[in-house]
Amino acid sequence: MSSVVYNRVALIGLGLIASSMYWAMKRGGLVGEVTGYARSDETRETARRIGLCDRVCDTALEAVEDADLVVLCVPVGAMGKVMEEIGPALKPGATVSDVGSVKRHVIEAVSPHIAEGVHFVPAHPLAGTEHSGPESGFAELFDNRWNLLVPVEGSDPAAVARLRQLWEGMGANVDEMEADHHDLVLAVTSHAPHLIAYTMVGVADDLRRVTDSEVIKYSAAGFRDFTRIAASDPTMWRDVFLTNKDATLEILGRFTEELFALQRAIRTGDGEHLHDYFTRTRAIRRGIIEAGQDTAAPDFGRGQS
Ligand code: NAP
Repeated sequence: MSSVVYNRVALIGLGLIASSMYWAMKRGGLVGEVTGYARSDETRETARRIGLCDRVCDTALEAVEDADLVVLCVPVGAMGKVMEEIGPALKPGATVSDVGSVKRHVIEAVSPHIAEGVHFVPAHPLAGTEHSGPESGFAELFDNRWNLLVPVEGSDPAAVARLRQLWEGMGANVDEMEADHHDLVLAVTSHAPHLIAYTMVGVADDLRRVTDSEVIKYSAAGFRDFTRIAASDPTMWRDVFLTNKDATLEILGRFTEELFALQRAIRTGDGEHLHDYFTRTRAIRRGIIEAGQDTAAPDFGRGQS
């Protein structure tokens, strides 16, 4: 049984996350009318063609008019500017949320433009793919994935509870987290791994001794999973690293130390160190599977290839 959580929702930015939200909200019968806005004519035209949003508007101001919930679905570095533009147009009692991958920066950029009587409840769905744009979304993206709500000082508990209800209706599990802690956790679980994947793919590209065709042909041996991550949207990830600088640098510092330790173990033939280390990391993988956050199928369920 579903019920309408918000009568009017406005999605600002119409890429992977916004389009998945639209399909998931409609699937759950959670909303009345959904308006959408994207900055380019091309994206707005695509959205109209595929029926993404009940109404696609030519300006952000038009899209947010009379909205009960406005969700900022643009790259982290663009959130402040977008909020500055729409801030004065929001009705009292409306809630502003976002889906940005970094929280402290978004809170600092958006908060100054939140008018009296408007609620701000930042959020981050821990779900995504390497695809972007309005045609990449699908209703199941958030099913059984976590969404972290990051209430700011003074966030209205009723507004937080309502947003939680929306995300749960879209299939997500919801937790609350403090902004700095969120940024550190995500630096470990997402941001540093992406940087490492980008680096590994870059190294293979530079290494002319291994020909391109060999890299592609034998990629199932591990490299393929790096290439999937390294295909993620360049604008989004540039913004993530520029705005979650401290936490990412801290994790990368630790990563480099561990990498050097493993490098030394290989050089000195310290098999015990390597074996102990890999035993510990294997247990982490098991924990992720037991928590239902990935498949235990061989080769991530890809089957024979
Ligand atoms: P996306 O598919 O690339 O879509 C981004 C949207 O933002 C597009 O509609 C784009 O407009 C608009 N946009 C880009 N730059 C802009 C700017 N400077 N000013 C105004 N609008 C701009 O991105 P996404 O994957 O949905 O990501 C959106 C947000 O979700 C990001 O903050 C990201 O950190 C977060 N997030 C992403 C993932 C993921 O895996 N992808 C997961 C969780 C959270 P045009 O199409 O008109 O260019």
